[in-house]
Amino acid sequence: MSEEGVRSAVVLGGGMAGLLAARVLADTHRRVVVVDRDVIGDSTTARKGVPQGRHVHGLLARGQQILEEHFPGFTEEAVAAGIPTADLGELRWFFNGRRLSPAPTGLTCVSATRPLLESRVRARVAALENVSFLEGHDIVGLTVGEDGHTVTGVRVHGAAGGERSVGAELVVDTTGRGSRTPAWLEEMGYQRPREERIGVDLTYTTRLFRLPDESVLRGDMSINPVSSPSHRRGAFLSRIEDGLIVVSLTGVLGESAPTELEGFLAWTRTLAVPDIHDVIKDAEPVCDGTTFRFPTSVRRRYDELTRFPKGLVVMGDAVCSFNPVYGQGMTVSALESLVLREHVAGGPVDPRAYFRDLTGVIEVPWQMSAGSDLGYPEVEGERTAEWERSGRYMADLHTAATVDGTLTATFMRVAGLVDPPTALMDPEVMRRVEEGVRRVGAAVA
Ligand SMILES: Cc1cc2nc3c(=O)[nH]c(=O)nc-3n(C[C@H](O)[C@H](O)[C@H](O)COP(=O)(O)OP(=O)(O)OC[C@H]3O[C@@H](n4cnc5c(N)ncnc54)[C@H](O)[C@@H]3O)c2cc1C
Repeated sequence: MSEEGVRSAVVLGGGMAGLLAARVLADTHRRVVVVDRDVIGDSTTARKGVPQGRHVHGLLARGQQILEEHFPGFTEEAVAAGIPTADLGELRWFFNGRRLSPAPTGLTCVSATRPLLESRVRARVAALENVSFLEGHDIVGLTVGEDGHTVTGVRVHGAAGGERSVGAELVVDTTGRGSRTPAWLEEMGYQRPREERIGVDLTYTTRLFRLPDESVLRGDMSINPVSSPSHRRGAFLSRIEDGLIVVSLTGVLGESAPTELEGFLAWTRTLAVPDIHDVIKDAEPVCDGTTFRFPTSVRRRYDELTRFPKGLVVMGDAVCSFNPVYGQGMTVSALESLVLREHVAGGPVDPRAYFRDLTGVIEVPWQMSAGSDLGYPEVEGERTAEWERSGRYMADLHTAATVDGTLTATFMRVAGLVDPPTALMDPEVMRRVEEGVRRVGAAVA
């Protein structure tokens, strides 16, 4: 903690965004309290407050890099604890039903269940002496100073009953998609943020398996036939901790895979490639299947508000909840923690400046996921000529990457939020795309 560390902060919600916020606040604040309604402790199993935690959670490369920056040695410790890792470009990726040519990228994919990943981050945050956790407490509202424009803390309700308040100079709302900041703003006489929505009506259906013989994976840590407008049914299979594999099947626009074993297996036979079915057909199911419905991606435009109370900022899914098939949520939270770090370093946060800078990290992943979702004709949204051009180019890039591993690596760096999308438009990359498409065409003819 620096000498400026005389302030206190309260973080609403102890999910990934909340933990990462607490990590950076601990450097400049005397006291950081993380409030959550769940009693989490050192649990490594799914919990009520994070129901999505039962489904495949890939950490993008940039997310892994930021975790490593916040918690030096994080990846090495994960490996030592038996969590599988692999090079992101060497996983078995399928786009539009075709396998991308594998290639080393130097980017690490950490394959843990979401609860285990979160518990490891949480343990590192809990080890910081000025961070404490207030669990089993429901957040019921904000406390506001006499001026009516300064947030001074939060009101919480304990499981045993009784309400109390926790005061702080800074409140960070990381309560996820269901965040009540829009309603609180309205109660204080401010505007709600405008919401952008992309309706994908996505469903995840997930089961865990134990493999009698791991050789069926042919040495791969993960097999991902990603859903796309040409192949709507998608899947993610990952080797995780304790010798288990997790399989999440994704259906879009109202379609969903069955949870019961027979139907689940039958559905994997309808995927673009047989790889997932081949791996799990003789595997031992470990527990019942479970589903999660994700109707819309939601982006709350706090950056557009011209007035905002002092002492309050918002982060994570509470600002932007992305279509999960692109695996961006945790990594964007990590990127946002860097923005928060910058804004708390110089004294009290200016929320409007903070939200402006947050846009800088949300815009690209939002355009990437929303742009891909518009590829489904049923999804509502504006389709510009530029969008048409970039959709055609991405399809060509995926085609060319089936015969050119260098393109796989370039794509993975961009999809992993390590490099900007402009990297895909480098003249040499464009030349390789053209050549790759020609080679594939020649092979097919
Ligand atoms: C099916 C699915 C799959 C996903 N897969 C991926 C993936 O592969 N990769 C990836 O990066 N991201 C993925 N995500 C997104 C990811 O889960 C989130 O983006 C990320 O965890 C950040 O969430 P958060 O911390 O902002 O919110 P959350 O994870 O929702 O956490 C919010 C926290 O606030 C607490 N809380 C909420 N309200 C209250 C209240 N009133 N009082 C007290 N506590 C409260 C909750 O208990 C919880 O702990 C996926 C999401 C879904 C739905």
